[in-house]
Amino acid sequence: MTWTSLAADAPSDWWHNTPTPGPDIDDPARFLSPVTERLLQRVATILAAPPTTRTISPHLHGAISALLATSYGYDAEHRIDPDEITWAYTHGGALHIIEHPDGSVTFTKHHREDCPFITSRGAQECDEDCYFPDPADVERAHGK
Ligand SMILES: [Zn+2]
Repeated sequence: MTWTSLAADAPSDWWHNTPTPGPDIDDPARFLSPVTERLLQRVATILAAPPTTRTISPHLHGAISALLATSYGYDAEHRIDPDEITWAYTHGGALHIIEHPDGSVTFTKHHREDCPFITSRGAQECDEDCYFPDPADVERAHGK
């Protein structure tokens, strides 16, 4: 039992001023708080950082273009509002984008995370146990 993993990221004097862990230490928080405070500040900084820019492949860009064109027309323009993004995150399954060997791409929110279709990246069929309640039915059940 050591402090090593925490001490690796601690101010250097913390290592020398902290007693060896043991049952005789009645208030570990007194020694750990300065370190945990620093770790929490680091976590907050990481979480507050803007997301790193991700580039998408030309093939995936083409697939998104096709998704827009087949949904809204060949010259479509469609703006997605933040609340629509939130709604999509909270209804149905997580978005999965599966690029198949033949060049086709599947965009799906239909399957649960451990469905064979998802775990095999589209190589296996769905086991038909993927069910997400229709948002309209959920609202009706709650009397809206
Ligand atoms: Zn499924």
